[in-house]
Amino acid sequence: MLEPAKGIILLGDGMGDWPVPELDGDTPIEAAVKPNLDRLAREGETGLLDPIAPGVRAGSDTAHLAILGFDPYRYYTGRGPFEALGIGMDVRRGDICFRVNFATVDADGKVLDRRAGRITEGTAELAAALDGLTHDGCTVLFKQSVAHRAALILRGPGLGANVTDADPHAEGVPPHEAHGADAASEKTAALVNWFVAESRRLLAPHPVNVARVKAGLPPANIALPRGAGGAPDLPTFAAKHGFTGALVVEVGLVKGIGRYLDMEVVDVPAATGDIHTDELAMARAVVDALTRHPFVLCNLKCPDVAGHDFNALQKVETVQKLDRLAGYLLAHTTNTYIAVAADHCTPVLVGDHTGEPVPLALWGPHTRVDRVAEYGERSCAAGSLQRVAGADLLPLLTSYMLRQEKFGA
Ligand code: ZN
Ligand code: ZN
Repeated sequence: MLEPAKGIILLGDGMGDWPVPELDGDTPIEAAVKPNLDRLAREGETGLLDPIAPGVRAGSDTAHLAILGFDPYRYYTGRGPFEALGIGMDVRRGDICFRVNFATVDADGKVLDRRAGRITEGTAELAAALDGLTHDGCTVLFKQSVAHRAALILRGPGLGANVTDADPHAEGVPPHEAHGADAASEKTAALVNWFVAESRRLLAPHPVNVARVKAGLPPANIALPRGAGGAPDLPTFAAKHGFTGALVVEVGLVKGIGRYLDMEVVDVPAATGDIHTDELAMARAVVDALTRHPFVLCNLKCPDVAGHDFNALQKVETVQKLDRLAGYLLAHTTNTYIAVAADHCTPVLVGDHTGEPVPLALWGPHTRVDRVAEYGERSCAAGSLQRVAGADLLPLLTSYMLRQEKFGA
């Protein structure tokens, strides 16, 4: 009798790429020296992974939802909840979430600047003035994000998410009055309109804004919500799959998704999210998490950063970091299946996400080894797994792990 095995999904964020002239027509993965990734391909099964579906340009959030087994077309409820999760807010089922701009209005209440001069300082103090307000039995949770951005959560009974934006998306006009499409959303709209008025009342005299006006800067004297979304009605990871899991990741958004799915989100202080990240510290955290859970997903962020920076040579370097991470996992695990892939392509020629599939290798004690000997976009296209959808990756893994319920008798 075989013992149930453990499983790891190892992702290079945005690692898939196109042939690059600067690399003599290789992709960054193909150009990298990567003995461990090649070993996973040579001793495993290979194919191409469509993180969501063929040709779809995936965000890291939607791709990770899919790869964790949750159909993003069913569960992704807009950027509001994921923005809030991404900055570490405690999003709960039933919450209504918004993206928010700090903005500048004049004495007549017309929007002068939708980004309050792209304010960078003092937003935590401004946010603290709004966080925790209550009205009509509901609570406001509010937190600053990057620059003029923030996120708003409205929490209370019977709130709907079909609410129009208060942000007019234009300057020279007053904020829009929010409207709801149904009774529950009308209740939310009334809260939004109250919140916008309250933000103006509390932010205008705030010391941060008094100092900005004195310095000739536009005050951040109003908060404008947009993009309402209900917290997704997701089962937890354990309820969905029948076993617990952990994340060792660097992207705030993905950490937020993991917390919401009730997964263990491991804090690795040396994981900085850029080229200087300590990939071996991440690898040790993966091995340690496997003592508590049968499954760990690990995402190394820096390939995506190099892609957004149009930096081919640095992207090659990031693939080699992922290779070292994989080497540690190979040396320090037993009876474990490892799938290596990416959450999407971020080609260095493009500087943004594109919709091509990414190379996939699935390695472990009993895989049906195919003839592919190298890990890469073109070599893995000849592999036995052929074309796999993101949402099908975990089932492929859990079947080998002997941890999947039988479908039928
Ligand atoms: Zn990504
Ligand atoms: Zn990206």
